[in-house]
Amino acid sequence: MKYLAPAYVYTHEGLQKNKLIAIDDAGLITGIIDSSQAVAHEQIELLPQMLLLPGFVNVHSHVFQRQLRGHTHRPLSRQDTFWTWRRAMYAEAQRLTPELLYEEARQTYSEMLAAGYTSVGEFHYVHHQVDGRPYDRPNAMSEAILQAGKDTGLRVVLLMTAYARGGFQQALEAGQRRFCDATVEQYLARVEALRQQGYQVGVAPHSVRAVPGEWFHAIAAYSREHSLPLHVHADEQVAEIEQCRTAHGCRPIELLERYEALSPRTTIVHATHATEHELDILAQYGSTVCVCPTTEGDLGDGIAPYEDLRAREIPLTIGSDSNTRLDPLEELRWAEYSARMRYQRRRVLVADELAAPGPLLLDYGTRRGAAALAIQAGEIAPDQAADFVAIDLEHRQMRGWSEEDLLDTLFFGASSEVIAQTWVQGACVYRRNA
Ligand SMILES: [Zn+2]
Repeated sequence: MKYLAPAYVYTHEGLQKNKLIAIDDAGLITGIIDSSQAVAHEQIELLPQMLLLPGFVNVHSHVFQRQLRGHTHRPLSRQDTFWTWRRAMYAEAQRLTPELLYEEARQTYSEMLAAGYTSVGEFHYVHHQVDGRPYDRPNAMSEAILQAGKDTGLRVVLLMTAYARGGFQQALEAGQRRFCDATVEQYLARVEALRQQGYQVGVAPHSVRAVPGEWFHAIAAYSREHSLPLHVHADEQVAEIEQCRTAHGCRPIELLERYEALSPRTTIVHATHATEHELDILAQYGSTVCVCPTTEGDLGDGIAPYEDLRAREIPLTIGSDSNTRLDPLEELRWAEYSARMRYQRRRVLVADELAAPGPLLLDYGTRRGAAALAIQAGEIAPDQAADFVAIDLEHRQMRGWSEEDLLDTLFFGASSEVIAQTWVQGACVYRRNA
């Protein structure tokens, strides 16, 4: 048993001081007790002038896309869009081997830990050899990612992506072969193998354009049977919505409902162009939305309908997606800032009109994210994983903070440079300047 003694800790009761957080040998929080209680000195780790928060949860990452950072802003064509960017991304995906993927994941996951992310949902789709043939170990690429998680200390939930075709009634492009399994049974066998090995996994049919209805039905049934998270991209691009309407006479989230793919375990990634009717459907099924504001900004996707999401109390989470930037404070700030620009008023993401945004942004970045990945984390409370970030209150970016506005000072005034330590499952896995 050990105890952390931060200057402040944030729990569901709000900001507290003079508390010790008790952690058992399995890395679980067992209690939050008054610092006046008798505890042996050698069991206490002091965190002076630090604020302890739950670790941030990165719900949506494609780790290898970190290699594109900074390299896709030169003109790729006369008019660049998501689709021209995608060609550059496919070229990068062709180069990967299990060894290169491991190395990229190891470095990127270290960067995530330094930024304050303690868990990641890795939406992983580069599965096979370039010509589409499986490796001798069919999960060689997934295993490279999971090994990088183990070696860095970041908790990885492998969201195994299913990919079957180039688009609605569209054959595969050469660059997509290595994303695809021959049949949905083959895909599910690979998920099952990782599950049997004890890894935390979820299923991730890529999108309604890349996965046909029969596959969706089988994957959704498997997710129900084993209570696994189901993540899917939807409504990121107007072109995809138009193609869906032409092929099926409805919009992507309406189609997901027909496929029985919606439930409280479902997370819709982006939902940028979702209509009120689509959001009504999500609210009805208790599904979650993951926004990725820095990537959505980079790719010119658009701004999510935050006001409509809030009005329906649809749980929001964040993802770093293309990893063009890794900073949960910036990701959450851009959710609120882009909402302000869209609706031309302040404090859009608040629980009620008289609340400050800080606590809700923290909730999106931690507890809601953990729920979307089905992990027992995201709050500083008994029986939760001891996943924390320690914020340096003496950092110059935090100068002028007060107890009353502490979270708002953090989310609107600071970058992840203020993170002094990151803890996962009771172990300190990142120390600034260490
Ligand atoms: Zn994505």
